[in-house]
Amino acid sequence: MKGLLRGRAGFAAAGAASNVFKRFVKAIVLFGSPGSGKGTQAKLLTECLGVPHVSTGEMLRDGIRQGAGVDAAVAATMHAGSLVSDAVVDKMVEERLNRPDAANGFVLDGYPRTLAQARNLADWLKERGVREVVIHLAVDYNVIIARLTGRRECPRCGTPYNVVLRPPKVDELCDLDGVKLVRREDDREEVIRERLHAYDRQTRPVLEYFRNGGGCVIEVDASNDPPETVFRKIGQAIENR
Ligand code: ADP
Repeated sequence: MKGLLRGRAGFAAAGAASNVFKRFVKAIVLFGSPGSGKGTQAKLLTECLGVPHVSTGEMLRDGIRQGAGVDAAVAATMHAGSLVSDAVVDKMVEERLNRPDAANGFVLDGYPRTLAQARNLADWLKERGVREVVIHLAVDYNVIIARLTGRRECPRCGTPYNVVLRPPKVDELCDLDGVKLVRREDDREEVIRERLHAYDRQTRPVLEYFRNGGGCVIEVDASNDPPETVFRKIGQAIENR
């Protein structure tokens, strides 16, 4: 990611946004359906801004891998494509945001995902006098299906691929370290359907909540552009706000 940030032209806007962020914004909330590219944009933003990437999905998956803090019921919920309980996720996020490295700001990816979580976050931010900037990555439904069904990642270095849209040079092997790529447990078709259903039912209303709250909600069309173009659009939008 570092190479991507430093090596490509057009990141000036992101650089300017970085200064704006450091002065005025502490909390960025990346919002969008599964497959909208939240994780990719969060990684680019956190590299650029030097703040932690707080991904509830990654934290839960890490917990399952390490067998610590996340019980079997949570794993089963995730594998079925449903949402983990608010109590579990709220506690996990609060603990993470209270760590010293988040004091200067953070990028939230995958949280809040329910109205109750949104209220919990709003209280946390209000107590600390912090305003959030919400970035909504809007992506066409068919693009989402193509992205999620073809998604693979390197289990060693985490580099993301897509067998159709962004294939590795050698079939199913990571370009960087040659390790066999893996598919996320919940990227099977029936689970994808349930995740999108959960998004429509429980998460989409959170966007209205943010819009009605009078805070800053930035809309970014993220259907067709490559990640670095989407990132540039985000940078420009933050700078113009
Ligand atoms: P995606 O956005 O592609 O679905 P994530 O990695 O953000 O991927 O989430 C994977 C799974 O982790 C979700 O389907 C859900 O089971 C669980 N999860 C992540 N974040 C939350 C959250 N804020 N609330 C409840 N469950 C969550």
